[in-house]
Amino acid sequence: TEDVPGGATGAAAPPGPPATGGPVARTTALTKAFGERTVLDGVDLEIRRGEFVALLGRSGSGKSTLLRALAGLDRDTGGEFTVDGTVAVAFQEPRLVPWKRVWANVALGLRLPDPRGAAEAALAEVGLTERAQAWPLTLSGGEAQRASLARALVREPDLLLLDEPFSALDALTRITIHRLVLDLWSRHGPGILLVTHDVDEALLLADRVLVLDGGAIAHESRVSLPRPRHRDHPDLIDLRS
Ligand code: ADP
Ligand code: MG
Repeated sequence: TEDVPGGATGAAAPPGPPATGGPVARTTALTKAFGERTVLDGVDLEIRRGEFVALLGRSGSGKSTLLRALAGLDRDTGGEFTVDGTVAVAFQEPRLVPWKRVWANVALGLRLPDPRGAAEAALAEVGLTERAQAWPLTLSGGEAQRASLARALVREPDLLLLDEPFSALDALTRITIHRLVLDLWSRHGPGILLVTHDVDEALLLADRVLVLDGGAIAHESRVSLPRPRHRDHPDLIDLRS
């Protein structure tokens, strides 16, 4: 299908995980209530540069609320959090502005000398060079999700927050995008916090898995499984047509 990225990732052996560094984000006793309802009730977490962390939790457990707080989209929280560096977010729905071309969506709000050039380079990284001039409504789901990733990446974030960005994709497109995210992660090395409700996905992608329950991190485990086999077998992805 047209959902398979072009030469961006190529058939070369994929690079390994990036080196981990100091903390990019840390929360201490983070709380958040909506009226009477306490959603976050003392969240302590730390994400290091180059670390891939998955956040699991039941629907309504506060995953998106935590992500929004980390993204600085919600000032009305208790406790403390610090983010060291720039943050970019990709949501479940790509949220592209329909009346701006794809490249202009990626360039939106960029303060660089050549925002268009930077946007086009990011689109090339996600295999969307040919769709740069397209209108968002003409993109497939996978393409829109890749455009959303390009919009996050062009900001060269130290912390990349992904809020269930894969759950609306068909299985084959999801594999392609998993591979793309791992590849971009390897080459750019941000800390990633991936919110998902899919345990398999968390174990497949992350170094560390957190479970949000009862308003706090109820479980945490390190993942020692090898990374997805399809990452080492680009041919598997070439199930085009
Ligand atoms: P999750 O992403 O884990 O599914 P959310 O963080 O979206 O959960 O929501 C956690 C809880 O907070 C839910 O009960 C939800 O209804 C509530 N909530 C989220 N946003 C708001 C809001 N803006 N106003 C009131 N309640 C909200
Ligand atoms: Mg959510």
